[in-house]
Amino acid sequence: MFQTQKFSKEYKEIIVDKNMSTNIPGVYAAGDSIAKRYRQVTTAVGDGTIAALSAAEYLNKFEKAELETEAVAY
Ligand SMILES: Cc1cc2nc3c(=O)[nH]c(=O)nc-3n(C[C@H](O)[C@H](O)[C@H](O)COP(=O)(O)OP(=O)(O)OC[C@H]3O[C@@H](n4cnc5c(N)ncnc54)[C@H](O)[C@@H]3O)c2cc1C
Repeated sequence: MFQTQKFSKEYKEIIVDKNMSTNIPGVYAAGDSIAKRYRQVTTAVGDGTIAALSAAEYLNKFEKAELETEAVAY
């Protein structure tokens, strides 16, 4: 966990948006650790899938930007 990460006041659950993104760019959370209504295996697996896809999309943006920078350099 990160010192600056946002938690709900009552239960210290991590606050995420619909992409499982925390308030820290590039950091995602899923499952029982996040603030949500139902804690089940099925919801945890769904959260995990969304978090993984969101993280991949976030990393792809960096890779694309890096390739564009390299192309300009040569
Ligand atoms: C008694 C009980 C019965 C349940 N029955 C059902 C049921 O019948 N059906 C259903 O769908 N759901 C049930 N649930 C809920 C379900 O188990 C959880 O919602 C689900 O397991 C959440 O998955 P998770 O991956 O978020 O967390 P977990 O399954 O809790 O996985 C978290 C993992 O992280 C590890 N971990 C923790 N801290 C650290 C650390 N600092 N470093 C490294 N690893 C760490 C833990 O050891 C654990 O292995 C039940 C829960 C309980 C407690």
